[in-house]
Amino acid sequence: MRLSEEGKQLLLEGARALGEDVGPHLPRFDRLYDLLTEANQQVNLTALREERAVVIKHFLDSLSCLLSGRLEGELEVIDVGTGAGFPGLPLKIVRPALRMHFLEATRKKLRYVEETSTALGLPGTAFLWDRAEAVAHQPRWRERFDRAVVRAVGPMGEISELCLPLLRVGGYLIAQKGPEVGAELEGAEEGLKPLGGVLEEVKAFELPFTGDQRRLVIIKKAAPSAPRYPRKPEAIARHGLF
Ligand code: SAM
Repeated sequence: MRLSEEGKQLLLEGARALGEDVGPHLPRFDRLYDLLTEANQQVNLTALREERAVVIKHFLDSLSCLLSGRLEGELEVIDVGTGAGFPGLPLKIVRPALRMHFLEATRKKLRYVEETSTALGLPGTAFLWDRAEAVAHQPRWRERFDRAVVRAVGPMGEISELCLPLLRVGGYLIAQKGPEVGAELEGAEEGLKPLGGVLEEVKAFELPFTGDQRRLVIIKKAAPSAPRYPRKPEAIARHGLF
């Protein structure tokens, strides 16, 4: 199903509110919507189905990562737990210079993201089918990325442990969160130390149209992560670093 005229206007206006002109990228968002709605009939990729919800809560919400101001230029980026390609696909559409790596544990989701990226003609992409706990210990990927983006994968303590070992020193984790994130960040200063992380900023904003409160948590990788991190999934879940 293609985006309706209302859907396109919603995307244009919402992106403008976030400081972006997506006009030149509308054909790709239109195609992305088409592919997502089609694939969602076969496999359950996302619970959001209504056009307005997809535009606001997937497309615009993904683009809000740009408010971090840290996604400009030819950066190596990893989208950890990308699911159906969020936030990575919308970011790659509007910032084609980003070398976007999509990491996802569920094979059918990653296959959809790869097929969609190919159909959209997005070069400079890579697709990693695995758990972040494993990928972050592979020499090829460890401490390799300039940026990690992550949405809806877990509490801050868990995602910090998954993402920071993937970042080079000087890189940034950009985590999309809600207003309740303050509680998740209790103990972060100490908890981030073995990962080499330092909490730099929590940026508050409203998602266009809905008024929903959002936070971007920006953590700098200031020093190498201790080699034992990330631990196995059970250990992370049982004893979070914070
Ligand atoms: N980021 C997408 C979004 O916001 O629409 C997907 C969110 S979905 C709730 C969480 C996704 O993260 C799932 O697709 C799941 O398979 C994946 N995931 C969870 N833990 C993971 C891990 N340790 N490594 C890789 N993928 C993971």
